[in-house]
Amino acid sequence: MSFTRADFDQYMVPNYSPAAFVPVRGEGSRVWDQAGREYIDFGGGIAVNSLGHCHPALVKALHEQGSKLWHLSNVFTNEPALALAKKLVDNTFAERVFFCNSGAEANEAALKLARRAAIERFGEQKNKVLAAYNSFHGRTFFTVCVGGQTKYSDGFGPKPEGIFHFDYNDLDSFKALIDDDTACVIIEPIQGEGGVTPADKAFLQAIRDLCDKHNAFLIFDEVQSGNGRSGQLFAYQHYGVTPDILSTAKGLGGGFPIGAMLTTENLAKHLAVGTHGTTYGGNPLACAVAGAVMDVITDPAVLSGVAAKAELVRSKLTEIGQRYPIFKEVRGLGLLIGAELNDQYKGRARDVLNLSVEEGAMILMAGPDVLRFAPSLVMPDADIVEGLARVERAIARVVG
Ligand SMILES: *Cc1c(COP(=O)(O)O)cnc(C)c1O
Repeated sequence: MSFTRADFDQYMVPNYSPAAFVPVRGEGSRVWDQAGREYIDFGGGIAVNSLGHCHPALVKALHEQGSKLWHLSNVFTNEPALALAKKLVDNTFAERVFFCNSGAEANEAALKLARRAAIERFGEQKNKVLAAYNSFHGRTFFTVCVGGQTKYSDGFGPKPEGIFHFDYNDLDSFKALIDDDTACVIIEPIQGEGGVTPADKAFLQAIRDLCDKHNAFLIFDEVQSGNGRSGQLFAYQHYGVTPDILSTAKGLGGGFPIGAMLTTENLAKHLAVGTHGTTYGGNPLACAVAGAVMDVITDPAVLSGVAAKAELVRSKLTEIGQRYPIFKEVRGLGLLIGAELNDQYKGRARDVLNLSVEEGAMILMAGPDVLRFAPSLVMPDADIVEGLARVERAIARVVG
């Protein structure tokens, strides 16, 4: 039996509006649909397929673990989870790890830990959560309210209290909010969904210093920027500013759902037995695949390859911009790259995306004015060149 896009409207809740074609197979940075049409993938499942589609090392890990042990619950621990936790601890500031299944859950855990630790140490009044406008931290009700985009959080009834927003990269607006009742600050080192905007190093450092001054915990949301995408394992290592808590997901599983919250031993003790949990978190199958992802992306050759590939994407986009004056700016960090359309083409990112599909390339948007590229960290250079030639043909049609 073969299904079509029309079946989506027949059977699915209408919260998404998927493309007209239905992908059925992927390999590396290429995807094929039901009709056998091939696409070059710069979206990577929204920065998830960090090693492309069906990477042999991930397929192997999935098959091996798949015939051994799938799920136990957290009544027991398991070897793949312990191995993955050790890899994350060995390669970051963290001393303790909590596993969950998504980015929103990693942030939910991070925010609950920060508030609980602040309240236990300093009292009930220390519960303020500061976050940036236009940030994205997930779709659970707590995380979506923290995210600071009311278009996602309005219309669901009363919101959790104690959440305040500052302007990204605007230190005065941040200083106006932080005080001794602040439990934590959560921030993306590079805003992904909000438009691919990297933080200024001085801004992140000043936030770190003010958090220390006010005994507030600093949470970096590295759901999108983490797992090699910046060219370092995590973007905080690129900035040289270390958080107290780090959340990640997306690229960690390379396409298998998993999230993680990383923190210090000193903070972790506030999540004592029974304070938080999840049925699937730390599932052996997910952890085995993520362990294989970590093995590949901690290879220094892969990380330095990210910088080289990012340079190739950016220089090709700059060339396209010279031939078709459509971009205001090409920006980003590592292989998280945004091309903002200039005023004449404002709001047309969706058109470029749709025409790119017709030309055989998958790209992403970050709002209506920004094209977003978040490809596989090991995308072959030839695919980058060919894929961007297809994007250029789409842009020529938008301009022409
Ligand atoms: C995608 C994303 C999330 C949410 O992750 P889910 O797995 O969709 O819950 C949170 N924070 C950032 C920065 C993201 O990019």
